Amino acid sequence: MNSSILFYIIIAILLIQFIIETVLEYLNAKRYTDVVPSELSDVFDKEEYRKSQEYKKTNYRFGMVSTVFSLSLTLLFLILGGFEWIDTIARSYSDNPIVIALIFFGIIMIGNDIVTTPFSYYHTFVIEEKFGFNKSTKKLFWTDKFKGWIMMMILGGGILALIIWFFQWAGTNFWVYAWALISVFSLFMNLFYSRLIVPLFNKQTPLEEGNLKSKIEAYAKNVGFELKNIFVIDGSKRSTKANAYFSGFGKEKRITLYDTLINDLEEDEIVAVLAHEVGHYKRKHIIFNLSASILLTGLTLFILSIFINNPEVSLAIGVSQPSFHAALIGFGILYSPISEFTGLIMNAMSRKFEFQADDFAKKTFAPKPLITSLKKLSKNSLSNLTPHPAYVFVHYSHPPLMSRIQNLKA
Ligand SMILES: [Zn+2]
Repeated sequence: MNSSILFYIIIAILLIQFIIETVLEYLNAKRYTDVVPSELSDVFDKEEYRKSQEYKKTNYRFGMVSTVFSLSLTLLFLILGGFEWIDTIARSYSDNPIVIALIFFGIIMIGNDIVTTPFSYYHTFVIEEKFGFNKSTKKLFWTDKFKGWIMMMILGGGILALIIWFFQWAGTNFWVYAWALISVFSLFMNLFYSRLIVPLFNKQTPLEEGNLKSKIEAYAKNVGFELKNIFVIDGSKRSTKANAYFSGFGKEKRITLYDTLINDLEEDEIVAVLAHEVGHYKRKHIIFNLSASILLTGLTLFILSIFINNPEVSLAIGVSQPSFHAALIGFGILYSPISEFTGLIMNAMSRKFEFQADDFAKKTFAPKPLITSLKKLSKNSLSNLTPHPAYVFVHYSHPPLMSRIQNLKA
């Protein structure tokens, strides 16, 4: 296919994605003022609900401005030959394809970060601050960013360099080696993320002895779940929003509770949230998600290997000298409709898994404390009680509160 046709396809993909996204956001926003179902009438009082709707509207407007901004910038960049310009800079420093690719992506990452940082800064210190969620300080914001950059340079740069090295050495068969590398890496991350990465950003302490711990242990024993690692993380240093999650498997499996969760919920409610997390483990959702993402990575890399030697893919983004790194950008955009589609399937699976984990908690513990905890968590994050079904279908990895409560009461 001719590279100028591919160029127009790339522009069309970006525009169509923007239009779909805008329509979905608009449909969802129109429902903000819907009547709250009677089941959920006790989540907020009148004043809180007004605040929650104000929060959603503010985020809606903010989202629109930032999407329009980033789309315009991407289109301008493509049309004015931005990638060619960066490619020329990168090539002026080295002849080595790996070094060129690292400089090329390095400039894109830094440029992107400079452009998006004002938005995330505004979101944290103006919007989240105004609604009382933000606990982060400016110093913490910047050190987080700095640590994120260092991590990206080491991990992202290392993986990219290895993949290009595989390509030089194995040609189009590089995808098999790249697949093995990424699979091992994600398996490793899944196992050791809490041990290696989380400590860079947060403090984790074992849950202290006491009533809550004995209740959790009694529950775990009851369902035959070996639980040695229960940690409390200081989420409160960044936000008032609460959470709990499960990570790892085998000996490395652990449950992490946010300190905000422990402060906001009763002991029974915490055990119910934990029972839900154990449900994910017992129903093998963690293994499923990991396998699915490894298989999807394999598929993506295989398709990439078909297109990577096609110079038109590089030329389509306006780069005159075809290369692995330029083709990677072109491919990334051309492939995005397929990844949107697999994303829809993964979200649908995830919503199904949430119901299964809720059912597990309902059967092995009790439905009531889970219902009240979900209500409290929704209240604390000012979450949307009346989302549009189309928006839920595309974006929600968890079913809306209303459906979860209906399922728990059934
Ligand atoms: Zn869940």
